[in-house]
Amino acid sequence: MSSLSILKRGRSLIIRLFCVSLLTSVCGVGPKGTATAALLRQDQTQTTIKPQSPANEEFKFEKVDLELLEQVNLLDRRFEREGLVLDDQATVAYLNRVGKSLLPRGLKLENVSWNFRALRDPQPNAFALPNGSIYVSTGLLALMDNESQLAAILAHELTHVLRRHSYLQNRSNRKKFLTMNIIAAVGAYAPGGVAGAVITIATAVAPFIVIATMYGYSRDLEREADLKGIDMMLAAEYPPEEMVNVMRLLNKDIEGENIRFFYNDHPALDERIKYLSSYLGARADVVTPQMELNREKAAYFRKMEPAMRHDIQLSINGGRFRSAVFLADRLVDFYPDSENLFWLAEAYRTLGPRTEQLAEKELTNSAKKDAAKKREKRTVEEEERELLATPAGQENWKLHEKKAEELYLQATTRENPVAVAHRGLGMLYEKLGRSNEAVTEYQKYLELAPAALDRERIQKHVEALRRTP
Ligand SMILES: [Zn+2]
Repeated sequence: MSSLSILKRGRSLIIRLFCVSLLTSVCGVGPKGTATAALLRQDQTQTTIKPQSPANEEFKFEKVDLELLEQVNLLDRRFEREGLVLDDQATVAYLNRVGKSLLPRGLKLENVSWNFRALRDPQPNAFALPNGSIYVSTGLLALMDNESQLAAILAHELTHVLRRHSYLQNRSNRKKFLTMNIIAAVGAYAPGGVAGAVITIATAVAPFIVIATMYGYSRDLEREADLKGIDMMLAAEYPPEEMVNVMRLLNKDIEGENIRFFYNDHPALDERIKYLSSYLGARADVVTPQMELNREKAAYFRKMEPAMRHDIQLSINGGRFRSAVFLADRLVDFYPDSENLFWLAEAYRTLGPRTEQLAEKELTNSAKKDAAKKREKRTVEEEERELLATPAGQENWKLHEKKAEELYLQATTRENPVAVAHRGLGMLYEKLGRSNEAVTEYQKYLELAPAALDRERIQKHVEALRRTP
């Protein structure tokens, strides 16, 4: 199935970090200064969860655990119903194969059935629900380099389930929070106060899981997930140093999002890399040769290509244009076929007058906070208009429209050209005021893709362009 056909034009999903994926590492803490965060910090210093949580077989379900289980089962169904789960069988089968290869053979856990899914969310993220549902966002799938890194993420998340971390955290948090606090906490966390679809649904359906995963696990449980994850990787013969590499990758802040506050009270990435490296030093002395890594990267990209392309569309829809360029560039670098060239062209066209990369001064904490506030106040179109009124913005746009045009043209002339490249060219020319050329390209598109879903919309563009010379 072509990846284009699995693209669903959906509302843009700006979903904020939820678990605590490796990124924040942290299963961390809310923004400083909020009452809830203060409460939570207090809670975390006072909780007496031992570094080693009880082994699975020792876990006895209590009423409060069964309530949480019921909520997360409901949550799975809601994610599906809201169209948040990627509907691509090959990707799902692949995630399940890698995930299940990490699990001890014949392992049976009460109230766990393993399900690995991709979430249609351009924000790099992963989290585990205690019923065995593991979610990895398309944003994270698109960012990773190879299967071993995926295995690292899954092994970390699997440990949260195996060691019943959500239940343990839930038991200790529950007494201290009311649902109302959780909603306030979520609102305070989400930059701009606008929670993404995943958080919104989770808060409504299973409020305590939001606390147990987002505000989540203690530093000790996080560390346990990291180290146990390394053991699982070794047992399944994945090069364990990729756990460290994926953390470095996740530290990349392409969009300048204000998520750094997660590091405030928790092991910083540096610290995690340090303890993982020292743990690894004792366990593994073999570093995977580059050639093998390259081969692994190629295999991973071939498997993930449809999800990666889908994520580029989600990134564009969500206003994450720099991520779109970054990810599409990686795809073209891997395999410059007409479809990947088309996606890079789309990314540059929509990047418009913005810079391709954020400058150092845009990546400070205060700059990120300002940017988050601005994002809340103005639309993407308004931002573009503002930038286009500046010489630097005009310069960028000139550069990007040129790159986009070249890439679209390549995508229409390569072997197996894609029809959508003509639509992209039409949009580009329309924006540049080159009406006649826009009409020609739109017509080519309609001719080559007579069954296109957006046929009517494009037809309208053609008519409007013809009316205004
Ligand atoms: Zn975690």
